[in-house]
Order: sequence, then structure tokens, then C-alpha cells
Amino acid sequence: MNIHTKIESWLQVRRTLNNKTIGFVHTMGNLHQGHLSLLKRAQEENDIVVAAIFVNPTQFNNSDDFNLYPRTIEQDITLLQQNGIDHLLLFTTESLYRDDDDIRVMEKKMSSLLEGPFRPNHFEGMLTIVLKFLNLVLPTHSYYGEKDYQQLLLIKKMCAALFLSTKIVGCKTIREKDGLACSSRNSRLNEVDRPKASYFPRLLMSSLQTDDIVAALLRLGFKVDYITEQWNRRLGAVWLSDVRLIDNVLLS
Ligand code: AMP
Repeated sequence: MNIHTKIESWLQVRRTLNNKTIGFVHTMGNLHQGHLSLLKRAQEENDIVVAAIFVNPTQFNNSDDFNLYPRTIEQDITLLQQNGIDHLLLFTTESLYRDDDDIRVMEKKMSSLLEGPFRPNHFEGMLTIVLKFLNLVLPTHSYYGEKDYQQLLLIKKMCAALFLSTKIVGCKTIREKDGLACSSRNSRLNEVDRPKASYFPRLLMSSLQTDDIVAALLRLGFKVDYITEQWNRRLGAVWLSDVRLIDNVLLS
């Protein structure tokens, strides 16, 4: 695997790949089975796979969440090598935000729903970094998890609005054995909260009405930001202690 830490040298390599199809997977690291499923799909559908690991400061509205975000770069590099990934991009904040974060992309409607009120500026920061990476990689396909469903819809909307040629591919949510969606934040759940966390997907998948799901979660000791139905999905965001979990399921 080639590891690129400088944008300019990566761009030189990128120019040599013009006759290949490129699959791109953008992550914040601490890789798990969810990330690996995106990378595997990218390998199946493209000649070359490019991964990026970047913990993007502009999409964190809470500095504790940013500071405590698990960073396991050595372990991640080994995993990517073992899985046959071709290129890894590890760019610095300074090089990606050489404009001093003066230029941002924003969406005005969908980003004010669901996650929007709870995470001010999150989607603006997320769309901005996704656009930067899509322009740096110019992938044929770029892969995102349905776990972050609102994010996936916003990325599709941005690419259509800005006439990007990359095809955005949504991939199904990968879960732990007990149903909890794989997430880098799961490792921050303490030993009491971790088993309790499985009630969240179980209740989302149940036949209960949303109000009853909220009541059941509160009884179990969750704090609930929202449980709602939209886009033929039931989506929710909850807290256990200081760890925020999001998830969604398809409504049949
Ligand atoms: P993150 O590193 O959390 O920013 O996630 C990077 C990408 O992996 C995003 O497209 C996520 O939606 C996706 N992802 C995260 N968790 C899962 C999961 N459990 N199943 C499938 N995709 C996931």
C-alpha cells in the first residue's frame, strides 16, 4: 500500500491513474467491520481503491467528542495493508484547510432536519471535507454507509447540485452480533452501557410506535435526541452516559 501524506505528491500519482476506475472510501479511522465492508465493495467494483483517514475538526460541534475520538492509525494501516488497499491518504488539517477554513459548502434544507439541530455546523463541515476529498481523488465511485443515512443523502444531493461525476454508492449497515451498529464510538461505551446499547437497534426494528420506543429507551436509561420516521426509514439518536449513538432501519 502506498501512503501519501502530501497532497501535491498524491496529485502527481493521481495523474498516472487516469485509465483506471477508482473506488474511494473516506473514514475518520479506528477502522471496524463497517469500514471494511465499504472497502471490500470498492475493491469488487473498481481497478484501484483509495482510502482516506482524516478526523475532520470542522464537523465536530463538541470539542470533547473531537479530542476523545479514538485514533488508532498504526492498527488501521496494518488492517488496510492486510486487506490489499492500494493507496492511503493521510493529509494534515493545515494542508486540507489551506484556505484557513474560509470556504465552506452548505445545504439549506435537509441539513436542518434530524441531526441538524443537535449538531450545529456538522453537515457543513462534513460536506466541505467530502468535496475536498472528491476533488483530490476524482473517484469513479465513492462509498458511504447507510448508518449515517442523512449524511449519505446530503452527499448525493451535493454531488448532483455541483455536477460532480463521481457515483455515490450507499452500503448497508454492518452490525455487531447483538445488533448494535459498528461504530468507532462503541469502544467508548463502558461495561454497563455496552450491553444496554443493543436495545437501541432492537427497539428501532420493533413494531412499536415511535413514542413508545422513546418511552422504552428513557426507562432503560438512555437520553433520547430523537426517534423519527422519514425517507421510509426509522432513524434515531440517543446517548448512553457521554457517548452518542445514531442508527436507522428501513421501514418495510
Ligand atoms: P466514519 O469513520 O465514522 O466517518 O465512517 C466512515 C464511513 O463508514 C461513512 O461512510 C460511514 O457511514 C461508514 N460506516 C460507519 N459505520 C458503519 C457501519 N456500521 N456499517 C456500514 N458503514 C459504516
